[in-house]
Parts: sequence; structure tokens; C-alpha cells
Amino acid sequence: MSVAHLALPRAYQPENSLIKVDLHSHSTISDGVLTPAQLAARAHANGVSLWALTDHDEVSGLAQARAEAESLGMAFVSGVEISVTWAKQSVHVLGLGIDEFDSGLLAGLAGIREGRSIRAREMADRLTSMGVPDSYEGALAFAANPSLVSRTHFARFLVERGYCKNMQAVFDKYLGENKPANVRVQWSTLAEAVSWIIGAGGRAAIAHPGRYSFSPLQADALFEQFKELGGTGIEVITGSHTPDQYVEYAKVAQHYGFMASCGSDFHSPKEARLDLGDLPSLPSGVKPIWHDWI
Ligand code: AMP
Ligand code: MN
Ligand code: MN
Ligand code: MN
Repeated sequence: MSVAHLALPRAYQPENSLIKVDLHSHSTISDGVLTPAQLAARAHANGVSLWALTDHDEVSGLAQARAEAESLGMAFVSGVEISVTWAKQSVHVLGLGIDEFDSGLLAGLAGIREGRSIRAREMADRLTSMGVPDSYEGALAFAANPSLVSRTHFARFLVERGYCKNMQAVFDKYLGENKPANVRVQWSTLAEAVSWIIGAGGRAAIAHPGRYSFSPLQADALFEQFKELGGTGIEVITGSHTPDQYVEYAKVAQHYGFMASCGSDFHSPKEARLDLGDLPSLPSGVKPIWHDWI
């Protein structure tokens, strides 16, 4: 859906920004369907001038993404989206401006990926018991990177086989946070993820805060703890937020002194609510996380 079709609330006063920024996207290295180079080309074609690739728990697409971005004259930010478990829920932390060769970061991400493979087998067992056989092999067939199997790959398999009509239906019935085939694992801790990002010279930002189902007290605790650990950013504009949430999380950014980030969380042309770069400017009154990068 194009941003032009989203009614922005009256309280939303966009900052007067001349450049398009998109600091959240996924390639075939995690659960996206375009290669890093294809994503770079799509971002550029959509008018993005500052772009980050942020694959889940994996940085091996960054070299290709950077090379393509540079050849197109588009500024590039090295990113990653780290899986964290906090208060028994999955929380995603973006690392932006990281050194992708940092050994602490690489070791931490490798540990998370090991957990993914074990969990994928357990999810397949649960799906089998729910009448969906062969989903491990089915999900792997959708995963270009076999060391990174995600719920998205399972969901694509279930849609392809006609068990569900679309991705959302899969998450609603099988794979969403509290649904029977979602196997909860202890990803990294919040402290680990933030320390790996900072150790690699990056900025840590809480991804799509509007997607978590924390109580207000828990959300406050999450933001406070994140800040104490050295986290400095929060996503305000993302493909998973409603326009009201743009306003809500701009206030959160101001309240906690976080810099604001902006990214489509683009995975696939067919599945995306927002295309790369198809984002409104940040609301006025927040400090862009990229303020000193351009
Ligand atoms: P995982 O990291 O394996 O737990 O998978 C999480 C991924 O599933 C997210 O990064 C999204 O790409 C995808 N996802 C989560 N919820 C939904 C949803 N409701 N509809 C479509 N995709 C979703
Ligand atoms: Mn994803
Ligand atoms: Mn995410
Ligand atoms: Mn994402």
C-alpha cells in the first residue's frame, strides 16, 4: 500500500525532509525474497538515498548490498536485526552502522542461528501433529540460506500448499506468538544484543515497538532497561506501525531520549504493506538516528 493512501492523523506533523531513508529491510540471506543486490536496486529505483540491509541474525549479505548501493550512488548503512527474548516474548533489536567483521557480534549471531535450526525441527513436529506434514523440508526449500530458517519460510510453505490463504492467516492459526506451532526459544538477551551492537561500533534501536504485546508497565521497563544498557534508538516509522503509532512512538522517543529510526521492514514485493522507501518523513521534534550519517 502506498503511503499516499494512509490517512495521517492531525497530530502528525512531518519533518521537512528532502531525502528518503529506509533503514530496515530483508534479503534472501534471511527471510526476504530478493537478493541483497536486487534489494539495493529496488531501493534506488524507489528514490531511497540512505538504505540499510538488516537481515535477521546474519550479516553475510552486507558486502553485496554495499557494493551494489555504492555502484548506484546510494548511501549505505550496515545493519542487522537481532532476535532477543525479553519477558518471554521475541523482541527485535536493530544494529545500525555496525562493523560486520566484529568477532563478538559474529559469534553472538552464530549462536542465535544454531538455535534457529533446532527450533525449526520442533516447529515442524508440531505442524505434523496438526495435520501439516513435511514442513521442515518445505520451509528449507524456501530458505536460500539454510542456516537461517524462520517462521516466514514455514508460512510461505503453508500458503503454497494451500493450508492457508495468506501469510497473515498462517500466523493467526499456527505460527503467531501464542499459537500452537510457535516454538518459543531463548534467543539472545537484551543485554547481549545491545553489547554486541555497541561492541561492533553500531547504534542499537528497538524495532517495531508497536508490534509487541507488553503491558504499559512492561513496555516502560523494556525502554528503561534498553536505555541503561546503552540502546539509543527506536523505530518510529515502520511497515508494522499505524499512522497513530508513528505519533505514539515519536513521543516515546522524546520521552526516553531515543533517536528515531525509519524503515519499511520490506521482505517481498508480494507480502509487503510498504515498499522500500514508501515511508513518510519522521514526525517533527525527534532526532533522526542517521542525523550524522549524511
Ligand atoms: P522468526 O524470526 O523465525 O521468529 O520469524 C519472525 C518473522 O516472521 C518476522 O521477521 C516476520 O518476517 C514474520 N512475521 C511475523 N509475524 C507475521 C505476520 N503476522 N504476518 C507475516 N509475517 C510475519
Ligand atoms: Mn522477517
Ligand atoms: Mn522484526
Ligand atoms: Mn525486520
